[in-house]
Amino acid sequence: METNSFLIKYAEIGVKGKNRYKFEDALVKRIRQVLYGLTGNFEVYKSQGRIMVDASGFDQDEVVAALKKVFGIVGICPVKVFEVSDYDTLKSDVVSYMKDKYEGKSFTFKVKTRRIDKNFPRTSPAINMDLGELILKALPTLSVDVHEPQVEVFVEIRDKIYVYSEIIPGPGGMPSGTAGKAMLLLSGGIDSPVAGYMIGKRGVDLEAVYFHAPPYTSDRAKQKVVDLAAIVAQYTGRIKLHVINFTDIQMYIYETCPHDQLTIIMRRYMMRIAQKLAEDGGCLGLITGESIAQVASQTMHSLMATNAVCTIPVYRPCIGMDKQEIIDRSQQIGSYETSILPYEDCCTIFVAKHPVTKPSVAAMEKSEKRLAERIDELVATALETDEIIEVG
Ligand code: ATP
Ligand code: MG
Repeated sequence: METNSFLIKYAEIGVKGKNRYKFEDALVKRIRQVLYGLTGNFEVYKSQGRIMVDASGFDQDEVVAALKKVFGIVGICPVKVFEVSDYDTLKSDVVSYMKDKYEGKSFTFKVKTRRIDKNFPRTSPAINMDLGELILKALPTLSVDVHEPQVEVFVEIRDKIYVYSEIIPGPGGMPSGTAGKAMLLLSGGIDSPVAGYMIGKRGVDLEAVYFHAPPYTSDRAKQKVVDLAAIVAQYTGRIKLHVINFTDIQMYIYETCPHDQLTIIMRRYMMRIAQKLAEDGGCLGLITGESIAQVASQTMHSLMATNAVCTIPVYRPCIGMDKQEIIDRSQQIGSYETSILPYEDCCTIFVAKHPVTKPSVAAMEKSEKRLAERIDELVATALETDEIIEVG
């Protein structure tokens, strides 16, 4: 009997000592989630220190695309599984696997056998030799290279015989749900979805907050952020997105504070509100898409002024990346095309011609004193009217 399976390779989880099972269980859970709803029947389970997905009636490209979005996976190996029988059957099974997959192709290969079932009546090197010869005879367009083969044919003799020769790279990282939760400040730009992806890749679950400024920012701009959250959620799993109406706060700052400080003061209020939502939601930090020197509001001075209002950690995974590196990553994760849709951004609408590039914390605090009369009430109202959208 022959079945189709995927052998899931994971790396870092392997070194987690006695907590290893928690990471494996989280990975199994996440794999089940991404396969749920795809065509086919899937069984995901742990077996002998590995994770297997047995599958029937499925579309391989669809399954691989889904597994490529699961953090924690470093390799996806489509496997043919054969029952353990005698040596001749093993040989003909492996040859038929090679013929099905590679008939007419030409490349160098090497067979790598692992014999976990030591009762099998041949040693691994002997099996490698025999199989190599038989494959060459059946597929004369191939050749053997034991030092630098283009393809390695893995034959694992366990409770069953597992044959595979392709390792499709996964995203790496740690499985979602293994590191706590953080609050992503998600704008409609290129950087913040990348930032969410990168922290999510370490196993962190995400909530997100978007500061919306209607009517200056349109419903289409908001929908774009919802779409971006959904793209990030394909990797991280479900995201609770808070849409905070920021218009009155922004107008009040605009009317009351020096215009060249507007962006930084706005950003400080965004951070304060995000932090409140984070604390209420059990998040252990904030995430932004900031990158040093990208724009005036992201000089070291500006970052310091923004950061000064935060008492929980702020994670800025793009901080040392060049714009092109961030763009490359956004293309790879699939958020770029959505990020560049040309809808207005609440920060750009009121932006000063010559914003401060070296704001001091003291100067910001001084300007914010002018807001004393109404700001607490406006922040409270913004939090009360929080619109929650679940994506993913
Ligand atoms: P992005 O491409 O992520 O929009 P950006 O280069 O446009 O970043 P800024 O607009 O200065 O940079 O914003 C810096 C960071 O502040 C963003 O990456 C995001 O984390 C947060 N941020 C900015 N505007 C908003 C908003 N309207 N809602 C939520 N977060 C925001
Ligand atoms: Mg932006």
